[in-house]
Formats: sequence, C-alpha cells, structure tokens
Amino acid sequence: MGVQTTSLQWPEPPVLACPVLKLLHGQTALVTGASSGIGRALAIALGHAGANVVINYLGSPEKAEEVAKEIQRCGSRAISVAADVSKPDQVQLMFQQTVAEFGRLDILVNNAGIQLDAAFEDLTLEQWQRVMDVNLTGPFLCCQEAVRLFKKQGIDASLSCAAGKILCISSVHEVIPWAGHVNYAASKGGLMLLMKSLAQEVAPQRIRVNSIAPGAIRTPTNTAAWNTREAYDDLLKLIPQKRIGEPEEIGRAAVWLASDQSDYVHGITLFIDGGMTLYPGFETGG
Ligand code: NDP
Repeated sequence: MGVQTTSLQWPEPPVLACPVLKLLHGQTALVTGASSGIGRALAIALGHAGANVVINYLGSPEKAEEVAKEIQRCGSRAISVAADVSKPDQVQLMFQQTVAEFGRLDILVNNAGIQLDAAFEDLTLEQWQRVMDVNLTGPFLCCQEAVRLFKKQGIDASLSCAAGKILCISSVHEVIPWAGHVNYAASKGGLMLLMKSLAQEVAPQRIRVNSIAPGAIRTPTNTAAWNTREAYDDLLKLIPQKRIGEPEEIGRAAVWLASDQSDYVHGITLFIDGGMTLYPGFETGG
C-alpha cells in the first residue's frame, strides 16, 4: 500500500538536535530581524555554536530580549539592538553599538525581510518601495558597514581564517517567479546579484559572502499557509519532501556557512527548500 504522506507529516516537526560543536567560539555575529521566525533561530544557532550575538529588531523589544536570554543560557553573550535596516543612520549606530559591546564583528546575517503583497495592478509605489528598502537596501547598507569593518579589522587567526563572513537570507523566490508578490520576488532576485557581485569583489580580502534561500518555513510570516489542514495540504503540492521546513534547519546551515568548515565557499545560494526548486509539477512525469 502507498504511503499517505500528508497524514504522516502533519503537524509533527522533525526532531532537531542542538549543535554541540562550538564552531564559532569567540566570534561575534549580528543577525538582522532576529526577534522572530528564521532570524530568531539563526541567532540562537549561532549563539549555541559559541558566537556572541547582536539581535537586531524593529518593533518587538520583548521578543528580542527573550532571544538574548536563550543565547545567554547556553553560555554565549548577546544583546538586542533596535534599528530599521533601511535607515543608514540607524544601521551605522547598530554597528557602532556592536563594536562598543563586543570589540569586533565576524559574521553579518542579513535576515530582516518583509512582504507587502498585492496583485500587480493594485501594487502601490509605497508597497514596492518599502519592500525594496527593507529587503534590498537594508542588506546593502549592512554589507557596506560590515565590509568596511572587516577590512579595518583584518584576519584574527585565533578566531577564523577569514576576515569576515556575510550571509544573506534570500528566498526560493530569487529564482521562482511569484505572481501577486512582484515586489518581494524582485527584491530577492536583486539580493542574489548583490550577494554574488559583492562576493566576487571582496573574496581577495578573505571576506566570504553567501546566501541561504529558504523554501516554505514555519514562521509567523506565512501562518496562513500551514495552520489549517487544507492550506497545509495545498502547500505540500509544492514541496517534494512533503513537509514544511523548520527555522532551526536554516540555523544549522548558517553555522556551517559562517564557519571555517566552508572556507572555500564563495557566492553561492544554498537552497533549503525540501526540493521546492525542483519543478514539483513534474513529479509525476509531466
Ligand atoms: P518574520 O516576520 O517572522 O520576522 C521578520 C523579522 O524582521 C522580525 O524580527 C522583524 O522585527 C524584522 N524586521 C522587519 N522589518 C525590519 C526592519 N525594517 N529593520 C529591522 N528588522 C526588521 O519573518 P521570517 O522569519 O518568516 O523571514 C525572515 C527572512 O526569511 C526574510 O528575509 C524572508 O524574506 C525570508 N524567508 C522566509 C521564508 C518563510 O517561509 N518564512 C521563506 C523564504 C525566505 P520586529 O518583529 O521586531 O518588528
């Protein structure tokens, strides 16, 4: 008898183990949008891997503090810092606060991102602009501050063989077109070439720049896609592995990409999507 995949997979998440290796011991990481969802899991994973973590947030100080406490419980240091990543003065201040607290920065994770969806004809200039500001200009501003700082610091071989590492949290929609979400898809497509062009430019200085492109991950952003049986079954049609992803799965990959274990990796997008980018419509032969 064939396996009834949908009934097996919902609502149980996979068993997730905490990383035991302190691959990032003594390094400092800044994660934007770390008060919720994927950013929260990234910050906790980096903290568990031994990094001191700056938890950036916009409007949720209590949630950011809770993430800081979770990181402190596993022996790393953490602070939360409010900043709108689309505002140059606030970004500069956030980097200054990072250096004031921890003395340096080794890892930047550009995670903060938003969706403001509308059918194309109804999409307002404000919706277009805000998504570009947060999802694309934000990473630009943060990357610029980070690269300047990495170059100034140079390599500290006791921490890492790189002068710095940057991760961008992109999306499968950096390559999959998305009707009704033109601003979001355009911002992630832009982020892909920002990441690759910057990776090429700064590799000679031993700065590594890469992306992680999640598929559907269980976060507050997309609750409507997984919190009812009907929505979840619909979602599974897009995912060959037949389950939604968990934020911790992005965290584990980020630890590897930010560590010296991946030192020869430059300018890639690592898709973590249960096979979403494999044209699931062709699963049955097309
Ligand atoms: P959430 O909505 O759960 O969290 C978004 C985070 O971004 C929050 O911490 C929020 O802070 C912060 N934020 C929003 N605007 C700004 C800003 N202007 N400056 C600083 N921080 C800001 O999102 P997800 O965890 O779902 O998504 C995180 C990233 O992953 C995004 O880039 C998204 O595009 C990407 N992604 C998500 C997928 C998914 O399935 N969830 C799939 C593919 C990609 P606060 O709450 O404090 O306001």
